[in-house]
Amino acid sequence: MSERKFVIIGDGNAGATAAQKIREEDEEASITVLTDESEPLYNRIMLKNFMKGTLPKKFTRVHDEAWYEKRDIDLHLETRAENVDTDEQIVETDSESFEYDHLLVATGGSPREFPVEAENLHYMWTMDDAETIKEEAETSEKAVVIGGGLLGIDLAVAYAENDAETYYLIRESNWWCRGLEEEGADIIHRKLEEKGVNVMTETEASKFNTEDGEVVSVTLDSGEELNCDSVAVAIGQTPNSEIVDVEKNDYDMIKTDKFLETSEEGVFAAGNMVEYQSPVFERRVVNGSWDHSEEMGETAAKNMLAESQDEKEAFDYVNTYGVGHFDVQFLSIGDCTGEALQRKYSEDEFRRLFFDGDRLVGAVMIGYTKGQEKIKELISEKERFEDREALLDKSFWE
Ligand SMILES: Cc1cc2nc3c(=O)[nH]c(=O)nc-3n(C[C@H](O)[C@H](O)[C@H](O)COP(=O)(O)OP(=O)(O)OC[C@H]3O[C@@H](n4cnc5c(N)ncnc54)[C@H](O)[C@@H]3O)c2cc1C
Repeated sequence: MSERKFVIIGDGNAGATAAQKIREEDEEASITVLTDESEPLYNRIMLKNFMKGTLPKKFTRVHDEAWYEKRDIDLHLETRAENVDTDEQIVETDSESFEYDHLLVATGGSPREFPVEAENLHYMWTMDDAETIKEEAETSEKAVVIGGGLLGIDLAVAYAENDAETYYLIRESNWWCRGLEEEGADIIHRKLEEKGVNVMTETEASKFNTEDGEVVSVTLDSGEELNCDSVAVAIGQTPNSEIVDVEKNDYDMIKTDKFLETSEEGVFAAGNMVEYQSPVFERRVVNGSWDHSEEMGETAAKNMLAESQDEKEAFDYVNTYGVGHFDVQFLSIGDCTGEALQRKYSEDEFRRLFFDGDRLVGAVMIGYTKGQEKIKELISEKERFEDREALLDKSFWE
């Protein structure tokens, strides 16, 4: 068999894992990884601890350049793929082109931005972003953080732990309204307040007031004005998908089948901002987490290596996401968007279970996280429950 050419765009957890898996399975293959970042894979999850000041930068490193060399993986740092020509099977940068037989697009997303430019207005995704925010958090007296999602909470805690007076603006009635209502979110709000974060729900920034290129205050939709010397925003991401002309959803996320192959044969996609057909949930799904990207990278690699349809493996992972800033753990599992039943067991213990009819499809746990592996199993195995309320009894999970 002649040497197969694999090109991977993106050196996040999805891309780097795929490269590793391909090399493990095929000693001869040529593997090229392109990344527009200046350093090889680091652990994005750990950036939150780095920003808080509890973890030195060196502990965020996952691979150094030698790791790629040792595996004969051709890593190109600071190299942005500008275009994919799927007819010619070429990835083009501004100065080079790379031929492929199999391509993996693992480019994730970029922070959505407000149409305002200011030196102290920050968005968070990369190590560079984390370094800038950390530096500013250390010297800020008053900070505003915007965005009631999984990343916004990290930013709010990072500023508060650096002793900035922190105002956390959440547009909705509570934090992470995707999967929580007030009863559960109130625990998180209380924990944030205990860390010194001022949580402001149903509050939007309506204007950034600037002086000499810096935001000096934020006007809220109530008319109130918050003075600040730093602002950090996490209001979602836009997919980095413009470089490749394959089928996408209404939000420009690349669409794949259950094998993570796009509408173009030989072109696969993995990681954040990819919409795939899930055999577990029996519908189209988008998820973003460290482990999810890793599993996607691995599955995409296996399927790129497969020499027949029978050798391909469907991507059937059940996603989890945890927040560990507090003395209670927050954990979400699976699909947290459907019909829900919930119970508060004590001041700090809460659970919300999501169902599709009589099938358990997701869970949010705060404080009381017992049975998480069993929940994943029940979701994967598509278990059905006549008495759904019984799943809220602690005795069910003992
Ligand atoms: C502060 C923070 C805290 C987090 N906390 C958690 C957590 O607690 N738990 C959890 O599970 N997840 C967490 N996440 C999310 C998790 O890190 C991501 O879901 C995961 O890293 C995504 O990996 P990925 O490979 O899919 O995408 P990415 O890591 O975004 O990788 C994509 C890469 O492609 C590059 N790229 C994009 N376009 C191009 C191009 N045209 N050419 C070349 N390169 C390109 C990008 O620069 C990037 O390096 C957190 C993220 C952040 C930022």
